[in-house]
Amino acid sequence: MSIKKVLRMGHPLLRKKCDQLTEQEIRSPEMKTLIQDMHETMKAERGIGLAAPQIGINKQIAIIEMPQESERYEEVEKTPLIIVINPKLTILDEKQQGYWEGCLSVPGLRGFVKRPRKIKVEFLDIEMEKQVLTLEGFLATVFQHELDHLFGRLYIDHIEDKTLLTYEEEFYQFYSEQDSIE
Ligand code: ZN
Repeated sequence: MSIKKVLRMGHPLLRKKCDQLTEQEIRSPEMKTLIQDMHETMKAERGIGLAAPQIGINKQIAIIEMPQESERYEEVEKTPLIIVINPKLTILDEKQQGYWEGCLSVPGLRGFVKRPRKIKVEFLDIEMEKQVLTLEGFLATVFQHELDHLFGRLYIDHIEDKTLLTYEEEFYQFYSEQDSIE
């Protein structure tokens, strides 16, 4: 297990659609190592989500974890580690909601992004079991942010009001009362 370097905006791999995993790949020992590396890297960088392309792996895997001990997201539902493989996203409610987002691949910045408020995500877990989650609120945004990475998109692509893209220092100075995501 090891902490990997997180690719930053500008690296072409962050803009590519990732490949789906085969059953053989999901069941391989390399898969377990990859998940462990992603988990360690995410925790080391204090993120709540990480997608495989962010550490240079062009595959449809993302992990999301809202840690119990996190005070930063205290009003948000806590989750165990969720491993999302080959996801399919369906919008259940087009009505938009906005949150401040950040990204380990876009360090030092925060941006206000509007996304559909309710979604359904179908995916495989590490045991090849099909999972279906219906998500709303903050978690719906977290999943959309991470799944975007698997299709070559970054949160900054969704910022409508460019005046709401700020450096972290200014974010904490002027907007810190509001939610943000990493
Ligand atoms: Zn991100």
